[in-house]
Order: sequence, then structure tokens, then C-alpha cells
Amino acid sequence: MINLGKIDKTLLEILACPVCHGSLQEQEDWLVCDQCRRKYPIRGNIPVLLVEEAVESEEGPASGASQAETTPGPQ
Ligand SMILES: [Zn+2]
Repeated sequence: MINLGKIDKTLLEILACPVCHGSLQEQEDWLVCDQCRRKYPIRGNIPVLLVEEAVESEEGPASGASQAETTPGPQ
């Protein structure tokens, strides 16, 4: 299958999610984080990796990913 992605594959490998530093996958006009599932818009072939621009996916993390643990550890 031919990948007609906007973003250069080499560049994609360098880029990382600014929130969790997970790897990003190109999906149409978005870069989607593998780990936290945030979506970053691609505007004019430029990925906008800003936390303020990110859209949180409704799907949620794939499995077992825990966010911001607040449970105190054992004393
Ligand atoms: Zn992420």
C-alpha cells in the first residue's frame, strides 16, 4: 500500500508527543500519539505539536495506561 502521507517518514520518527513523548502516527490531517491518543493537527504539511492544539481522542488509551497517579505510596 502506498503511503501518501504529508509528513516525511524520517521526520515522523524524530517527532514525539510533547505530552508523553510517545511516537506519532499520521492519520489523514492529524498526527496521533500512540500512547495518550492525543491528536495534533497538520496544517500546510506542518505538524502542530502544541499541547494547546491537541485534541484528546474519545477512544482513550489502548490499555492499562495510567494517567497522573495520585495514589500515595506505602509508608
Ligand atoms: Zn502522547
